[in-house]
Amino acid sequence: MSNHKSQLFIDGTWVPPHSTARIPVVNPATEEELGSIPDADAIDIDAAVVAAKAAGPTWANRDPRERAEVLRRIADEFEARAEGIASITSQQNGTPISIARAMHSQVPIQYRYFADLAESFEPESLVETASGDAVVRLDPVGVVAAITPWNGPQPLAAWKIGPALAAGCTVVLKPAAETSLDSYLFAEVLEAADLPAGVVNIVTGGRETGAELVANPGVRKIAFTGSPRAGRAIGAAAAQDFKRVTLELGGKSAAILLEDVDLEAFRPFVFSGCTPNTGQTCRAFTRIFAPRARYEEIVDFLAGALKDIPMGDPTDPANLHGPLVNAAQRDRVESYIRLGVEEGARIVTGGGRPAGLESGYYVEPTLFVDVTNDMRIAREEIFGPVLVVMPYDTVDEAVAIANDSEFGLSGGVFSPDAERATAIARRFETGSVGVNSSTLPIETPFGGVKSSGLGRELGPGSLDAYLESKTIFRQPA
Ligand code: NAD
Repeated sequence: MSNHKSQLFIDGTWVPPHSTARIPVVNPATEEELGSIPDADAIDIDAAVVAAKAAGPTWANRDPRERAEVLRRIADEFEARAEGIASITSQQNGTPISIARAMHSQVPIQYRYFADLAESFEPESLVETASGDAVVRLDPVGVVAAITPWNGPQPLAAWKIGPALAAGCTVVLKPAAETSLDSYLFAEVLEAADLPAGVVNIVTGGRETGAELVANPGVRKIAFTGSPRAGRAIGAAAAQDFKRVTLELGGKSAAILLEDVDLEAFRPFVFSGCTPNTGQTCRAFTRIFAPRARYEEIVDFLAGALKDIPMGDPTDPANLHGPLVNAAQRDRVESYIRLGVEEGARIVTGGGRPAGLESGYYVEPTLFVDVTNDMRIAREEIFGPVLVVMPYDTVDEAVAIANDSEFGLSGGVFSPDAERATAIARRFETGSVGVNSSTLPIETPFGGVKSSGLGRELGPGSLDAYLESKTIFRQPA
């Protein structure tokens, strides 16, 4: 099937876009054009929103248990196509295929989790009050704009589409321009799952397309994952019409290694926690805090562990790091590496382009020492395989520096003493913290504080962000 896509998925069918503009999709490992997508305009967006709005009442009125069945069919059909979706995602954003497979094996589990939530969802409850009783009714908020970034397009879409559909909302999905080809396979999933027409619509395009979607008067809620810069613009635009927003933004998460840390136990987390998806992960632990007494040992260990991560051709299942998503992202990461040196930090491993990988947007995993928390490489999200390691004298000092950040998405504490680590985790000013873990459970809420965003996704309250309550209070006649 051609990767040059000429249609949009609107109202359950494939339609040619009004816009004639197109966006090339480049394979970041080969730097060759992989395909292209329509760059939809305001008229295309409006058609999708109109379809979603028209489908809204029927979908909202369906029994939540029926919506659960549809979500389970989506999970099944996704599973049947997971290999194809993993493959195209890997080609688009350079994620090594073994990682892309693991990422997409989770998506059906996510849709099934949201199906379970739909099944147990009770739209009405009766509350006894001092002045009579009240019916509290939860109605779907309306048309949802789901806007996703390139680093995990399908899981991050599932986090939005799953609870939105479970709650009875309809959706317009606008994936990132870099990674939209997978969304065409996702549309096939929706067709095969017999999703009613208009319940999910998919419109491709860039930032302008996203901005048109946010501004469209038919949209009532925006569920966004992406950069703080876009999050601010979306929050400001949404405020004009008091649209609901969930904003999952960036991070600069800290991992505190306690003095008794077992470095061999920490070894897998250098990849899975600190540099997953070649460092292009919002919740990556990119600031490492090491006890001063073990600082040199930890620096040597981290440098060795980073060098050991196999990097190269993303189609080779042995590789765990691939290229960065595009040339602009590589430029950005390389400019931060130069900046770190200018600021007085020292590179102990990496810092350049890997030998033997002449094409592709590769950057070596890089570790900086001699870093202070006022440096921009310690404060700003780099979104690449670049770590800073800083020594601390007391845990209080480590916690204070960890919390001295614009961001508050995630963090980690590593020690054989899980109870002590948990007590320290409680002091993090972040939406989540891993204790000897970097695995995010879908059964618990995820999101950020400060510039890391607004609202939560996942967990038992996932539907809340897609519901409006209405109270019918009454007294005996
Ligand atoms: P981005 O903000 O540039 O783009 C994300 C999406 O928003 C894309 O679909 C883009 O087209 C759209 N967009 C951009 N500007 C917009 C605007 N003004 N109005 C409407 N839509 C707009 O982000 P990116 O470069 O694709 O992704 C990287 C960023 O995403 C990083 O900052 C990363 O930390 C963040 N991220 C956060 C999480 C999380 O859960 N907190 C997860 C993954 C990525």
